[in-house]
Amino acid sequence: MSSIFDFLVIGSGLAGISFAIRASKFGKVALITKDKLIESNSLYAQGGIAASPLSLQDSVEKHVEDTLKAGDGLCNPEVVKEIISESKSAIEELISWGVEFDKENGEFSLAKEGGHSERRILHRGDYTGQEIQTKLIETLLKSKNVEVFENHMAIDLITKFKFIGKRDGVEDECYGAYVLNKKTGDIEIFFSNFVILATGGAGKVYLITSNPDTATGDGVAMARRAGAKIANMEFYQFHPTVLYHHKEKNFLISEAVRGEGGILRTKDGEPFMKKYHPLRDLAPRDVVARAMDTELKKSGAEHVYLDLTHLPKDFIIKRFPKIYQRCLELGIDITSEPIPVAPGAHFMCGGVLTDSYGETTISRLFAIGEVAYTGFHGANRLASNSLLECIFMSKRALKKCLEYPKKIQIPKEDIPPWKSEKTIPQDEKILISHAWDEIRRLMWNYVGVVRSDKRLNRAYERLSIIKRDVMEDYWKYYISADLIELRNIAIVAELIITSAMARKESRGTHFNIDYPFKNDIDFRRDTII
Ligand SMILES: Cc1cc2nc3c(=O)[nH]c(=O)nc-3n(C[C@H](O)[C@H](O)[C@H](O)COP(=O)(O)OP(=O)(O)OC[C@H]3O[C@@H](n4cnc5c(N)ncnc54)[C@H](O)[C@@H]3O)c2cc1C
Repeated sequence: MSSIFDFLVIGSGLAGISFAIRASKFGKVALITKDKLIESNSLYAQGGIAASPLSLQDSVEKHVEDTLKAGDGLCNPEVVKEIISESKSAIEELISWGVEFDKENGEFSLAKEGGHSERRILHRGDYTGQEIQTKLIETLLKSKNVEVFENHMAIDLITKFKFIGKRDGVEDECYGAYVLNKKTGDIEIFFSNFVILATGGAGKVYLITSNPDTATGDGVAMARRAGAKIANMEFYQFHPTVLYHHKEKNFLISEAVRGEGGILRTKDGEPFMKKYHPLRDLAPRDVVARAMDTELKKSGAEHVYLDLTHLPKDFIIKRFPKIYQRCLELGIDITSEPIPVAPGAHFMCGGVLTDSYGETTISRLFAIGEVAYTGFHGANRLASNSLLECIFMSKRALKKCLEYPKKIQIPKEDIPPWKSEKTIPQDEKILISHAWDEIRRLMWNYVGVVRSDKRLNRAYERLSIIKRDVMEDYWKYYISADLIELRNIAIVAELIITSAMARKESRGTHFNIDYPFKNDIDFRRDTII
């Protein structure tokens, strides 16, 4: 099957859905998503969305300053200013789509998180992402002109250079994507005037992560294979407080818990953050994650504790209903006992390089949301800034699409159906799950919160062997969702390792013990692959 659309949106998180809602007013939209429509990182966002100025004390300038400080010298200040200046109108737009934020006495209830100098985070309890996704999906499904394809997984992008060949002086452009229909096993072609990658992050590249199973870096891997530029993949943000429990693999304990007074303690009860940063438990995430790593290595423990037992019980239950409930189901009453937590891969600060309109280095291919690197987050993302970026960039990207003077001429006759005649059934599925596990452990052990040249070299060598096997299997067997994701995490892991090897300094979320300091002379620049 092949279909042609004006906009092909890949991914149904906040970036993809908000783009589809907007674009549906201007043309025919296909929104494909590899799982259910609601499933995404966006769904699990707890803390909220940052905007300014929402109080008399706050200003755009202060929010810009906090963002630049967190980004540690690598943000693009113009992009930061543009996004934050528009943050209030982004919130108004969300509200116009039905999203509700908590209020107190008629005013927005504003939360504070690490790295923010003011209270400026709008939230809905501790389930802000669920509120946003639910309301946006209601709006999307009412929009005319949008066709939603659940259980459809993009495999590869279709580009001019791939099928027509590369020619000097000619720009590459994107025509669509090959897509696996996970229900039927068929591989379909979606042609489109514009392709919008909104596939989110890649937390599943690491063993411990706050991300759901869908976060396998597919967009970055597809863009890389298509020849687009990728930036700053060494900067993976680790969230300090992922619940450490054998029955729950990726449940986040929001930073807002520390914002409201939660204290990190060692297993002996010592509040250790005072040794590491003047902001103590509200220090930037990378500082907290490294401090935890140091404490864990020192004690040999597998987790530390986050303690909020000194806060009023009613307040905890009202402010953090979801965290309270989930922990209680697992046998932890957070009002009377501390929560076991460990750092986990949380946010991909780098991604597919785009201009300030979300267009990649391949014409008509856009990347928005966590999959992209716009320069907004630099070397480290400020908490609650990513939902803001999603909503802003979906508007900007559409603006640029609408400025294109004419529709694309797709040479459909030159684009073959997916080649599958040589594939044989995969009889050893266990090999796929072993390779998944090997990559995730290797990344966790050698390319995690604290890195060194030796660890990175070792990771590179080991990954090369695994990757060779994965690529061989990929072309031998019937294609499956697991195999596609495995190939993608192998590519993303390689991008992270090679970018980390190239950065011989420590900055933002990238910390290498062999170069523990920042080197502005040689490395105040993006790592572009
Ligand atoms: C637990 C958690 C809490 C967070 N809390 C906050 C917060 O409070 N504030 C904040 O600003 N940020 C927060 N973040 C980060 C924020 O949620 C994400 O950065 C943001 O939601 C990313 O949105 P997105 O639309 O770019 O991607 P996502 O929301 O991840 O959506 C990606 C979509 O792409 C689909 N997809 C992926 N690959 C393919 C493929 N090959 N084919 C088809 N579909 C595909 C996925 O299924 C998914 O629907 C949090 C993240 C997590 C995990």
